[in-house]
Amino acid sequence: MSHYHPLTLDEAVALARSIPNHFSEQAELLSEEIGDGNLNLVFRITDAKTRKGIIIKQALPYAKVVGESWPLSLDRARIEREALQIQYALVPDLVPAVFNFDNDLAVTVMEDLSDHTIMRKGLIDGHHYPLFAEHIGKFIAHTLFYTSDLGMNQQQKKEQLARFINPDLCKISEDLIFEDPYRDSPNNNIPESIRTDAEALWNDKELKLEIALLRESFLTHTEALLHGDLHTGSIFVTASSTKVIDPEFAYYGPMGFDIGAVIGNLLLNYAAQPGWSATANKLNSQREFLLQTILNVWEHFESNFIALWNRDIVDITATTPGYQDIYIQKILRDTIGFAGAKMIRRIVGLSHVADVDTIEDEYVRIHAQRTALRIGTSLVKLGRKATHIQEIITIAKAAV
Ligand code: ADP
Ligand code: MG
Ligand code: MG
Ligand code: MG
Repeated sequence: MSHYHPLTLDEAVALARSIPNHFSEQAELLSEEIGDGNLNLVFRITDAKTRKGIIIKQALPYAKVVGESWPLSLDRARIEREALQIQYALVPDLVPAVFNFDNDLAVTVMEDLSDHTIMRKGLIDGHHYPLFAEHIGKFIAHTLFYTSDLGMNQQQKKEQLARFINPDLCKISEDLIFEDPYRDSPNNNIPESIRTDAEALWNDKELKLEIALLRESFLTHTEALLHGDLHTGSIFVTASSTKVIDPEFAYYGPMGFDIGAVIGNLLLNYAAQPGWSATANKLNSQREFLLQTILNVWEHFESNFIALWNRDIVDITATTPGYQDIYIQKILRDTIGFAGAKMIRRIVGLSHVADVDTIEDEYVRIHAQRTALRIGTSLVKLGRKATHIQEIITIAKAAV
């Protein structure tokens, strides 16, 4: 029998105390719930004297969406925890350590990263993260290569794939990214001021066809174990460190979906910069940093991925001359298409981003929304024809 119930603060403290070699027996422990409470509880338990902490994340059996309650499987806590453990084994410097878990309680106990900042907030505050591209390029290349048919035995991959069937969370992505934004759905969240821009999406046949093809790829291309929700709110950063959290949407899907999530969210911040940069100089330098980071994310991904391929390929057929180039070009095209789709859904779909939505000046905010829609639409249409990552930069520059 499952003993699931949402933990109280006291229960979270008791659970934290039970983790071996972490807190001393006499330690006075402080506890707070720091999650946004939409899908999950996140408790931070801290030693009052040493300030050392621990994080307990617990899945809730529903999502709160616009007054409604949307049931969600608690098994996603197991999926998130197993994904964290697989990622940690591959790139331990880029993922929080898991200390303990309880599948019945849908709980994961993990390393406290409170000395880091959520990247979305850091970018809104105008910070640069010079090592981010190198770190995330490495994260993506290693986690995708070693969970794919390129880097793992094909039969073991099928067994692993079966452990990451994540229907409830995939449905959120299927609906909110690929379906609702392209029709007049009650699940959209369309600011009245850009209603006509949203309607233009619904009437854009070329765009809708590309979105249908991206959706098919999301549904059917079981290339690698994806993080599945790799936006800048799932990434903790400092000047010298990057840590990826929150893989509850993990499933076997197309590699470009993760890379596109990173790039699409950097471009959302790019579109929103007039709301955050106080001077023209700051605007230029912040946007230059973002575009250079996009190029570098792709280049670090590609160089890491090729190096792993040339060293650790397990599939002899994949060594066929010419295959690697075609494979990487396909990832590039998917990346660009998914980046665009991720941008559009954050402007007209259910769930928005703070980069754009918290711009106070309405005129500047509407301008940012339109810029994001223009870039997103162009990227989706470019996707299948793209030949070089530089094409993203050309589109982004032309849109502002
Ligand atoms: P959700 O899936 O509900 O979005 P997240 O895993 O993204 O949950 O966590 C929500 C918030 O809780 C994060 O934005 C961060 O502020 C905090 N948090 C989550 N994990 C950690 C961690 N390991 N260390 C410190 N804070 C964390
Ligand atoms: Mg959240
Ligand atoms: Mg999150
Ligand atoms: Mg999450």
